[in-house]
Amino acid sequence: MKTFTYERAKSAAAAAKAAASNPNAKFIAGGTNLLDLMKLQIETPTHLIDVNGLGLDKIELTNQGGLRVGALVRNTDLAADRTVRRDYGLLSRAILAGASGQLRNKATTAGNLLQRTRCPYFYDTNQPCNKRQPGSGCSAIGGATRSLAVIGTSDACIATYPSDMAIAMRALDADVETVNESGHTRSIPIADFHRLPGDTPHIETVLEPGELITAVTLPPPIGGKQIYRKVRDRASYAFALISIGAVIQPDGTGRVAVGGVAHKPWRVEKAEAELPKGARATTNILMADAHPTEQNRFKVDLVERTLGAVITEARG
Ligand SMILES: Cc1cc2nc3c(=O)[nH]c(=O)nc-3n(C[C@H](O)[C@H](O)[C@H](O)COP(=O)(O)OP(=O)(O)OC[C@H]3O[C@@H](n4cnc5c(N)ncnc54)[C@H](O)[C@@H]3O)c2cc1C
Ligand code: SF4
Repeated sequence: MKTFTYERAKSAAAAAKAAASNPNAKFIAGGTNLLDLMKLQIETPTHLIDVNGLGLDKIELTNQGGLRVGALVRNTDLAADRTVRRDYGLLSRAILAGASGQLRNKATTAGNLLQRTRCPYFYDTNQPCNKRQPGSGCSAIGGATRSLAVIGTSDACIATYPSDMAIAMRALDADVETVNESGHTRSIPIADFHRLPGDTPHIETVLEPGELITAVTLPPPIGGKQIYRKVRDRASYAFALISIGAVIQPDGTGRVAVGGVAHKPWRVEKAEAELPKGARATTNILMADAHPTEQNRFKVDLVERTLGAVITEARG
């Protein structure tokens, strides 16, 4: 690990200011992703700004009847929260499908949203990777692609985005709240928060340099059967090959977001009009622009079959 300096931020605005003034600074929350990347020298910040003491660890009802989840709320606490379990069951289930109990005890809401890809070549510093080193090339294209993306890919990167929690947040239409170095706040719909790779796969979100996530807001509860189904190579402690986060209403209408297939949580609202007709009709639109490789073509079928199982479960 490279040497670095460390400070404990005293306020959210001060943290954003410190980060914006130093291009080699990073925020650290639970550290469960960042420290691993630093040990492998994939990330080499020279300064860490610890945001754990900012008091951003509360879960509160909003005046609009929704829920505001502080950026530093631990994944364990969010999944176990009574209101979340009752009104946003999809979120609770998605979080519990990820990582392990120990990791969830440390991992935070903001850190989870910003976790980086699990593309094996991203972790292998002997191999070119446009995300790790812009312009160096993509080792995955023409390589082992079984776990990688099938839709929204580019000639520069075919990595997937790994968070389970974010798939639920996408289906629930969450907003990400931030503050920048001038103290200016903004609310970013999660649909617009993560980027597709294009020719700049190292830029993964629309956050500006130094911009700090302060909270995630959920709109008022939408009811329905809320199901998260994750398909993976091992029964636990593995990232998704694909996952489905769905809210299905009694009349068969609903919402569906897909994980493990793209560089961001994948949701196509117009596909949801097909949900009452079933999984095939929905998947045909949801995955219409898929460009799988020979090795990961199975993911498109897996989305359809898993969605079919989810719809069957929702119908009881
Ligand atoms: C072995 C293992 C298995 C895992 N399995 C899964 C899994 O199955 N599913 C899954 O979804 N996840 C999984 N994870 C990932 C885990 O969920 C993430 O590591 C965790 O959520 C990151 O949160 P953190 O608070 O520790 O982030 P950190 O590591 O502290 O930070 C991550 C990134 O977020 C930035 N950051 C943190 N807080 C803020 C903020 N407030 N504003 C702006 N930027 C911020 C940091 O600068 C850093 O770039 C796994 C991790 C490990 C190590
Ligand atoms: S798919 Fe993306 S992360 Fe993986 S090697 Fe290519 S550029 Fe790097």
